[in-house]
Amino acid sequence: MSENTDTGLTDGWILSCRGKKNSVDHRKPYGWVVEKERTASGRIEDIAIIFLTNRECPFHCLMCDLWKNTTDESVPAGAISDQIEWALSQLPDVKHLKLYNSGSFFDERAIPEKEYKRIASLLENYETVIVESHPRLINEKCLRFRNLLKPELQVAMGLESANPEILRKLNKKMTTEDFKNSVSFLTQNGIRSRAFILLRPPFLSESEGIYWAERSIDYAFSTGIECCTVIPVRAGNGAMDQLLEKGLFSPPDISSLESVLEYGIGLNSGRVFADTWDLHLFSGCSKCIDHRISRLTEMNLHQKFNIREKCSCDLTDKIT
Ligand code: SF4
Ligand SMILES: [Zn+2]
Repeated sequence: MSENTDTGLTDGWILSCRGKKNSVDHRKPYGWVVEKERTASGRIEDIAIIFLTNRECPFHCLMCDLWKNTTDESVPAGAISDQIEWALSQLPDVKHLKLYNSGSFFDERAIPEKEYKRIASLLENYETVIVESHPRLINEKCLRFRNLLKPELQVAMGLESANPEILRKLNKKMTTEDFKNSVSFLTQNGIRSRAFILLRPPFLSESEGIYWAERSIDYAFSTGIECCTVIPVRAGNGAMDQLLEKGLFSPPDISSLESVLEYGIGLNSGRVFADTWDLHLFSGCSKCIDHRISRLTEMNLHQKFNIREKCSCDLTDKIT
């Protein structure tokens, strides 16, 4: 797909807005964590996430800040397997693992195929392994990795928005059709996939943000996606801060995330999660934020609607 020269939202502009990367060490993942997640079979289980340190993603999406913890060049041969081995020695025993690499697992310059065999042998005690990928990098390579793995492989991909014009402006360099084709390829080969969906990307009002997040969930499930995660969009990567200043972007309110999660769970089409990371950024009320975060967390885990306690900020919302 061609660049967004008509809108000015090009790789060049996005890169020019960036600040400095964080200092990372190619011998270690830049993070690891254990979370609880509801599995497709309905159990609530621990899932470990390893954030691998590797070469920056070749795509430059408008809203992405994952480049901050990446290297400019490919990491040395064997480094990714070494990072996984090291992280596994730090993590408790869990059955499920996400290997997130701030880009695409199937990007050869990030994770070379030569490493798949050793990676697969390190993962043989897991039940599920989830990797992330840009939809355009889904091909036979995924199957070659899957064929080496003992655990079930699942793939997480950013749909971001089913609004074609917004998707184009996000500089994702893919269409909704590309996304659909990648999900079909994975499904036909018995690989389950999950979608990342943005809540209120730039250029949308609050109500349009809700509308398009819901349509994006609809679209994702219609393609065969098994699970959706809704991510409220934030500033902080340079380009988004510029759009914020120009009035072309505002972060969504936590109440919109609540509405979208309620909608998604109500569809009963598959699991729908709200990303609960740093939700304080999306609320102006210190009285109810902790309750709202724990309610969203419970809804993620149980995939059931919970009543939200009323707060004085509900009244303020109505007045303003
Ligand atoms: S494809 Fe993913 S990791 Fe790469 S720039 Fe886009 S959002 Fe970021
Ligand atoms: Zn409140």
